Amino acid sequence: MPFSVPELPYAYDALEPHIDEATMRLHHDKHHGAYVTNLNGAVAKHPEELGSKSAEQLVANLSAVPEDVRATVRNNGGGDVNHTMFWEIMAPNAGGEPMGIIGDQIKEDFGSFEELKKQFGEAGLKQFGSGWAWLVFEGGKLKILSTANQDNPLSQGLYPILGNDVWEHAYYLKYQNKRADYLAAWWNVVNWEAVMKRFAKAQNYKA
Ligand code: MN
Repeated sequence: MPFSVPELPYAYDALEPHIDEATMRLHHDKHHGAYVTNLNGAVAKHPEELGSKSAEQLVANLSAVPEDVRATVRNNGGGDVNHTMFWEIMAPNAGGEPMGIIGDQIKEDFGSFEELKKQFGEAGLKQFGSGWAWLVFEGGKLKILSTANQDNPLSQGLYPILGNDVWEHAYYLKYQNKRADYLAAWWNVVNWEAVMKRFAKAQNYKA
C-alpha cells in the first residue's frame, strides 16, 4: 500500500497533561489510520494516475483526481496530510514564545504572539462543527484561516505553517465541550522548531 500512518515522534503520553494519552492513541492509530486506509482504497482504483503522487500533491490538485474518487481523496488525503503535519508540529517540553524569523514575522503581522493566539483561538472556536484552524503565509504576510472537515489550505494554493485540529475527536475525552480550553492549552505543545521548517518551505512554495 502506498500510504501509511507515520510513527509518532514521541510517546503517546508525552504531551500530557495538555493532550492525554487515550486521545493520542485513538487519534493517531484509529482516526489517522482510517484516513490512510480510505485514501489507499481510492488510489488503488486509479493506480496509473494517482499511484505515484504524494498525499500533499493529491490535495494540492484535486481537480486532477478522477471524479469518482475526488471526494474520498479530498476528505481522506486531507486527513492524512493534516494529521501527518499535526504530529510533527507538536512535541513534549515545547511551546513558549516563538523566536527567530517566525517570532519576528508574528510580531510584524499580528503585533504580538498574544494577539496571534487570540485570533487563532477565535478562528478555531468559530469553525462550526469539524475542521481546522490554520496559519498560512500569503503575499508576504502570515494569515489565519479555518477550513471545514479535512480540507487543507494546499487546495487553495497555500502552504500551511501550522494547524490545529478542532474536530471533537481531538479533544473531547479530556476537554468535553470546552474547545476554547483545548485551543489555549495546545500552544504548550507547539514545536516551534518544526514550525520554523514549515515557514521556510512556505516562503518558497509555488502552488
Ligand atoms: Mn483529527
